[in-house]
Amino acid sequence: MKPKQVLVDVDTNQVQINWLDGHASIYAMTYLRRACPCAECQPWKEGVGEVGVAPESVLNAVGELKAVSDVSMVGGYGIQFHWADGHTYGIYDFGYLRVICPCDECR
Ligand SMILES: [Zn+2]
Ligand SMILES: [Zn+2]
Repeated sequence: MKPKQVLVDVDTNQVQINWLDGHASIYAMTYLRRACPCAECQPWKEGVGEVGVAPESVLNAVGELKAVSDVSMVGGYGIQFHWADGHTYGIYDFGYLRVICPCDECR
């Protein structure tokens, strides 16, 4: 599963991914920030805390990207976001981004 195009709209705080299979995913940046897959944001993946529960700091995080350049492609398998709150650790692989697509069809 790979994106054809990644569109960042810093005015509406949305990221749109147009996938090669024709599907389009539209994510609110805050939704993406809180879904950050890194160990700091999802400690339960490392066996810490309650499964599936992110720390307060993540649940309350507001996702914001200042510029289109705050999004980088990582080795052809994922995307890294340079959030305005300084958090940049998470690499969102394409499969994960597709799984968390918030559209009616995917939910
Ligand atoms: Zn994170
Ligand atoms: Zn979808």
